[in-house]
Amino acid sequence: MTHMPFSLPIRSNTCCIGQEPLEPNQEIVSVLIGSKDSYERFDYCVDCWEKEGKEKHHSQAYWRFIIPEKPAAPPKTRDEKALILLREVLVQEEKPARDLAWILSLYLERREQLIKRQEKKGTLFFEIVDTQEMFQIARQPLSPTEMIVIQQELKSKLS
Ligand SMILES: [Zn+2]
Repeated sequence: MTHMPFSLPIRSNTCCIGQEPLEPNQEIVSVLIGSKDSYERFDYCVDCWEKEGKEKHHSQAYWRFIIPEKPAAPPKTRDEKALILLREVLVQEEKPARDLAWILSLYLERREQLIKRQEKKGTLFFEIVDTQEMFQIARQPLSPTEMIVIQQELKSKLS
């Protein structure tokens, strides 16, 4: 047995009779007519189906279904999450936020999301590559232990 490769016609975005838009969460009726490698598809809003389609296609296979929601936006990457978090902590004054902003900046610089443009007396000036926004951040003197704690915290926030 051999199968001819063919592609099924894709659902239309409008009703084949009244041209009403067919949208997610809407119930519609679809009919597929043809055989082998030649198919024609008709998509109806329920109103037009009841008024015309039902009778026209009474002998053909049809199915009723609800158009699913569009798939959700792809999950954000680690770097995107890190940039969002950086924006949040940059405006906070408390030490934990400063420390976090510092570690995030180093991480994002390594990831080439930030470019260091200048350093003056322990203050670094970074530019966000995507938007060319500048911000400054003071070097935070952190012990190795503090670094590890913050890196752990980041790991869970960005996963
Ligand atoms: Zn219609």
